[in-house]
Amino acid sequence: MTESRRIGYFGPNRLDPPLPARRFGNKAATLSEMAALGVPVPPGFALAVEICEEFFADDGVLPDDVPALLAAGIESLEESTGLVFGGPRRPLLVSVRSGAPVSMPGIMETVLNVGLSRQTVEGLLFRTGNPRFAWDCYRRFLAQFGQVVCGHEPGPYAARVREALADAGVPDEDELDTAGLRQLAVQSERLYGELGTPFPTDPTAQVLACTEAVLRSWQGPRAEAFRRVAGALDAPGTAVTVEAMVFGNLGAASGAGVAFTRNPWSGEDRLLLDFRFGAQGEEVVSGERAGLDQDAFARIMPTRFAALQEIGDLLERHYRDMQDIEFTIEEGRLFILQSRAGKRTPFAALTIAAAMVREGLISETEAAERLEGVSLETIRTRRVVAGKDLVGEGVPASGGVATGTIALSGERAETDREYGPVVLVRPTASPDDIEGIGAASGLLVSRGGRTSHAAVVARQMGRVCVVNCRSLAIDAAGHRCTIGGTVLREGEVITIDGDTGAVYAGEVEIREERPSELIDAALTWRSARSSAPRNDPVRQA
Ligand code: ADP
Ligand code: MG
Repeated sequence: MTESRRIGYFGPNRLDPPLPARRFGNKAATLSEMAALGVPVPPGFALAVEICEEFFADDGVLPDDVPALLAAGIESLEESTGLVFGGPRRPLLVSVRSGAPVSMPGIMETVLNVGLSRQTVEGLLFRTGNPRFAWDCYRRFLAQFGQVVCGHEPGPYAARVREALADAGVPDEDELDTAGLRQLAVQSERLYGELGTPFPTDPTAQVLACTEAVLRSWQGPRAEAFRRVAGALDAPGTAVTVEAMVFGNLGAASGAGVAFTRNPWSGEDRLLLDFRFGAQGEEVVSGERAGLDQDAFARIMPTRFAALQEIGDLLERHYRDMQDIEFTIEEGRLFILQSRAGKRTPFAALTIAAAMVREGLISETEAAERLEGVSLETIRTRRVVAGKDLVGEGVPASGGVATGTIALSGERAETDREYGPVVLVRPTASPDDIEGIGAASGLLVSRGGRTSHAAVVARQMGRVCVVNCRSLAIDAAGHRCTIGGTVLREGEVITIDGDTGAVYAGEVEIREERPSELIDAALTWRSARSSAPRNDPVRQA
């Protein structure tokens, strides 16, 4: 097999044809298509899916040519960025990302800030003149590399963060100064050494180890569970995408966010986004932190908002579907890191398909195809008519009303569903909660944003979801939680309203409606299609 078929390149100013998704995964394929469309994406390259298949066929041994492929790829990134991997003055940092031909948001591993060591952290400081930023990247990298590559438990790293916060007397990582972050980096470095093998300071060894960890995550328990639930057990493997880093944690006009080109639970044709200043991408999508919404973002960064809207429109026209876009702003410059067809609730699927037919973006036959897996007849809109015991309020993240008994763990949700509907109540939800979310009618979390991977999963499963309910405190050991001062035991009934964010103790009176006009139109397209010849399915799954 020639090198050119096992590695594919993308980025601005490249003339290569777009990468095929089947070979290089959806992520790299879309990045290459976006680059060709003139969307600002950092340069990168991808290793083909077959490398993953060979890796597992050979009991977890990397194919011989992987080091050479990575070296060739890194060299191309050095050329296009003018930076040097492992360089003591202008170091190049990369992300090593998973990305299969089927989209698996948050399920496999990604490592950011690869290429850092004591030497290059000095170089990063030199390159940016920003020591706070340089130490922040290094401490993030140590913790992520330790956990993802070496399987270290997250607990001890989180404990180091808590110690640094206590020493500095600040409540949040955002508020640690240079000295605090430097101390945290040094402590994380020490911790890493104590937990096993010495930290690899050679960036080439780092990127190789990250590649292997990303490949391994294809057969991790989370990925297997996802493929079981998604009915994708025969999927061949993941590609590995290596991409030049852009930094949302660099300075005041930097941050990271996620945008949906239309509302993924109501279908409303309006950009919906979560953005955090000073963040690196994974904080928003992991569900750990919430951010500014589109209105606040548009007020603070009106030109970036307009640019995002324009890119969103361009991508919607190109892919002819609603998009879920990861983006980062580095010192005012906007970069797009990913775009995929946005997961949506059945109601949003119906609304968006109908709107896109009206807009002339898709045909009625295509609309019927998009709605293939959706059980149209069961779609209902539910609204609260009268709820008396309002106990708290969060941020709506997936519409409808869910009433059920409180389950504080996924296991409890799975057992209690035998007796009736359940609402899963968690501090944050991670992709590990997939099975619990599947068992529940609704998901309520005390932290995290609307665009987190867990909220995405909840919507895709058609579950009601309320996030960032700050007045919710959970006492898992005591099997109870407090919402705005009201104590509720596990097993007691609550109601969450995914359109307003309201949380009620007990049941509420609701009004249920069948969106008849939309359903009937879709049924007409469906029956017209079953008597017409088939189109090819859309690629972007
Ligand atoms: P997933 O498939 O789980 O979403 P990603 O590969 O998209 O994982 O990466 C996780 C997070 O890291 C995302 O928020 C993504 O935008 C961010 N990220 C990935 N690569 C880069 C990069 N080169 N620069 C900055 N952020 C990145
Ligand atoms: Mg992603």
